[in-house]
Amino acid sequence: MPNAIEVELVATGDELMSGAISDTNGAFAAGVLRELGVAVRRMSVVGDGLQDIVSALTESAARAAAVIVCGGLGPTEDDRTAQAAARFAGVPLARSEAALAHIRAMFEKLGVPMTANNEKQADLPAGSELLDNPVGTAVGFMVEARGSRLFFLPGVPHEYRRMLREQVAPRLAALGRSEVRHAVRVLRLFGIGESKLETELAGISIPATVTIGYRATWPELHLRLYASGTCELEADLDAAERAIRERAGVRVYGTGDATLAQTVGRLLLERGWRLATAESCTGGLLGAVCTEAAGASDWFECGHVTYSNASKTRFLGVAPGLLAAHGAVSREVASALASEARQRAGVELALSITGIAGPAGGTPEKPVGTVWIGLATAKRVSSKLYHFPYDRERVRQRSVWTALDRARRCLLELAED
Ligand code: ATP
Ligand code: MG
Repeated sequence: MPNAIEVELVATGDELMSGAISDTNGAFAAGVLRELGVAVRRMSVVGDGLQDIVSALTESAARAAAVIVCGGLGPTEDDRTAQAAARFAGVPLARSEAALAHIRAMFEKLGVPMTANNEKQADLPAGSELLDNPVGTAVGFMVEARGSRLFFLPGVPHEYRRMLREQVAPRLAALGRSEVRHAVRVLRLFGIGESKLETELAGISIPATVTIGYRATWPELHLRLYASGTCELEADLDAAERAIRERAGVRVYGTGDATLAQTVGRLLLERGWRLATAESCTGGLLGAVCTEAAGASDWFECGHVTYSNASKTRFLGVAPGLLAAHGAVSREVASALASEARQRAGVELALSITGIAGPAGGTPEKPVGTVWIGLATAKRVSSKLYHFPYDRERVRQRSVWTALDRARRCLLELAED
């Protein structure tokens, strides 16, 4: 059951129209509103021209119960949004003493002298309601006119975000049906693309209160489960999650914010194990991704970056004969790297990556994208061959994620890690 409110977003500014920046504020707002269960019906972008802004406000207000407008509230000549709002509402601009006090206080706090044109920011459409901006000089305001509510926010992203959350979201929530609740849950997957997953989930039975949103954040796939209704939403989300997991299986590696590396870290910690890495073509990326997670020192022991053949021998004792016989990109070398990294670090688990990231270096037998990933525990050493048909950057990234996922599957004691 969706919230009764439908919203349109209008972004203003020549910078947007010329391609100098993109409307990241709009994307942010859409995400926040989605979580509130407020449907965004349309997002438009206009330049700084007064009449363009008036037209955009008129059109959006005719369709939507609420409109959120971004940008053009500054002190300069090209900031015309307040003027456009007044023209749209059919009211004059009037000096707001409260807004002026806010602007003065902000300048005082910043220790910056206020110039005369800053006073212009206190000229708001008569009858508008101030929206507090705790982090900037521009005040926001709300205008009710032509059957719609219009929220005007500054363009500077951190001001926009803060005001959207603190000023706009609660007002929109109050406008909507208050008995309707909303909840979101994120499922994180690796090893499957969105079209394949959608096919696999075809005909799945989930509660009617839940809708599924796909978000490909390469090389992962995130599913957002949006629930709205008057019932117990957590139970509905649980049921939907169960149904999805039944089909997607172990490719679901977690929920919420925990990354793949953090998930591996948690599984290591549960056993009291530590991890070491030996990397060739990824040049330390695996170590970097592991140590991005706060608290990684609890489970990450060390990483070796042995890029050249000589360094594989010198630092990890890979026999020159092995390298000569099989090449650096081979099962034998991947296994030797993982095994040596594990033993030398004195840890329970090690991962190795050796491959051809390209664009050069491929051969008919070992084309670009050929990657061997090794995994060593005290009980076994096993290496697997992958072919990643991508460019250099993505081969490296996909290799790191695949290695982490092998570790995850090993720690879960799944047959195929
Ligand atoms: P200011 O007081 O800084 O003039 P303003 O309300 O007039 O604020 P703009 O001048 O339109 O807003 O934009 C200020 C800055 O915010 C721009 O330089 C731009 O970098 C950023 N910005 C504006 N609109 C957007 C948007 N839709 N998405 C992301 N960033 C934006
Ligand atoms: Mg401006």
